[in-house]
Amino acid sequence: MESSIVLDDVSKSYEIGDYELHVLQDISLDIKKGEFIAIKGPSGAGKSTWMNMIGSLDVPSSGNIILDGNDLSNLSESELAVLRGKKIGFVFQNFNLIPSLSAFDNVSLPLIFQDIKKEKRDRITIEILERVGLKDRVNHKPSELSGGEQQRVAVARALINDPSVVFADEPSGNLDSKNSVELHELFFKLRKEFNKSFVIAT
Ligand code: ADP
Ligand code: MG
Repeated sequence: MESSIVLDDVSKSYEIGDYELHVLQDISLDIKKGEFIAIKGPSGAGKSTWMNMIGSLDVPSSGNIILDGNDLSNLSESELAVLRGKKIGFVFQNFNLIPSLSAFDNVSLPLIFQDIKKEKRDRITIEILERVGLKDRVNHKPSELSGGEQQRVAVARALINDPSVVFADEPSGNLDSKNSVELHELFFKLRKEFNKSFVIAT
């Protein structure tokens, strides 16, 4: 199977005064296209650090990360931004939706920065909202949605650019157990339907 993300001896440490904090050491990993990866560990284990590096939001102290054949260390900040926009969808613990915008506008926002006609943007947005089960909530603002629904809006937004991988950092951290189970079921369903890689920290 084709690789989606390859980590080659990746380490990350932080310098705190004259002391070096080693958070991640010598991680090598090959995530294939369409794979579902869950990374588990207690708080402080380094899950967010790891995810931010492979999501190109942070850089390793040593080692290489290759995303869809692109070695991230060879790319400039603006090239990384383009890569993130095209290939990566992010889902966060606190949803990160824009409070003043409807579910529909939150989801379609990433498309506005692309050269796509409004008609097509609207069609894609409705389609994705349907697939996450929010067809009858499109005009609700985040404050008019439950936590589980807000997170499904965030999942729809993460998928809208047709990324090759979706990263979710403790996506059910702010949900009750029923909504967490539903969210994980949604990830499994979407993974099958879209054949994308999902990387989830729990
Ligand atoms: P997790 O997501 O698994 O809870 P994190 O990746 O957020 O863990 O953090 C891993 C460790 O790295 C923690 O001990 C944290 O205090 C430390 N850490 C995270 N970011 C920084 C930073 N910018 N500077 C120094 N230490 C950091
Ligand atoms: Mg974390």
